Amino acid sequence: MPELPEVETIAGDLRRLVTGARIVSASSDWPPTLRSHDADGFARAVAGREIEGVGRRGKQLLVWLGPIDGGADAAAAVLTIHLKMTGQLFVGPAGTPHDRHVHAVLVLADGRELRFRDIRKFGRIGLYRRDDATGLPVEGEAVGVLPTGLEPLADDLTPTRFADLLARRRGRLKTLLMNQDFLAGVGNIYADESLWRARLHPLREAHTVKPADARRLHAALRAVLVEAVERRGSSVDDYTAPEGDGSMQEHLQVYQRAGEPCDRCGRPIRRIVVGGRSTHFCSWCQRLPSAAVPIGTVDATRRGPRWTELSGEGVVGRTAAEESRAAARKAAATRRAIARSGGPA
Ligand SMILES: [Zn+2]
Repeated sequence: MPELPEVETIAGDLRRLVTGARIVSASSDWPPTLRSHDADGFARAVAGREIEGVGRRGKQLLVWLGPIDGGADAAAAVLTIHLKMTGQLFVGPAGTPHDRHVHAVLVLADGRELRFRDIRKFGRIGLYRRDDATGLPVEGEAVGVLPTGLEPLADDLTPTRFADLLARRRGRLKTLLMNQDFLAGVGNIYADESLWRARLHPLREAHTVKPADARRLHAALRAVLVEAVERRGSSVDDYTAPEGDGSMQEHLQVYQRAGEPCDRCGRPIRRIVVGGRSTHFCSWCQRLPSAAVPIGTVDATRRGPRWTELSGEGVVGRTAAEESRAAARKAAATRRAIARSGGPA
């Protein structure tokens, strides 16, 4: 699922591409995609509005729309777009063919259209009246739609405040970092990467983290998010942005690298499942204090075999696992390229 860096990249691309454009009509062929309106109501509510800007809150895009003349819903509005697993946004000439995975279209007065493509159909678009002060939906309009967690890159999330927040939380670090009502925008990729950078075990209980370690995690989290924004996000699976793929996937140190050597110590990256999600870490660099090993997770937290004990040692070229990962990445890149061109004929 696209996380903060990926959504920030899409927001930046859209801001350049469609700010100032006027919407003339809209359509959608899959009712659940529109969470606030039916397709006709949505089309009436957006037609005539100018796109004033594009932002982000957590993992969701915010598209700010100007007011229209008359009517009860004439005030300035905001679109919330949650891409979920496979949502993609493309801008192209109106009327050109697209595949059956495009489930919402905004037609622009300049002859282009903004397309929402979503293979798994979990993505959601909402339209709400806008609070001018915050740019968010007015109070009570979009209950439960946006996360309540802090933005990890916001100035007011200082290292000390982050350490204080961790100290007051129960639960494991991996789960907590991904909790959108704790931090908004962090998901599986950047939770794993920041914990590796900070040398903290994903199963560590939050309140047992010492203040110095919490400050290190704060710095690691921000550093990996900033680097990922600069690299336009991680194009794993279906993520791509209107102006092209990201390259952060080439610089991830643990995510989807199980079995490959840790960049720090050379021992193999391990994969466990935490809260139903794949979790990647180095059991050597990211130690769990022995007193904190949760019951039932002995295998998960056991130190791995020595690098020299690995069966793959001495193999020249790629292992079978690496071959299959490379093939999967190539297939995903091909899927994204097809999506960009409007989908298979
Ligand atoms: Zn390591």
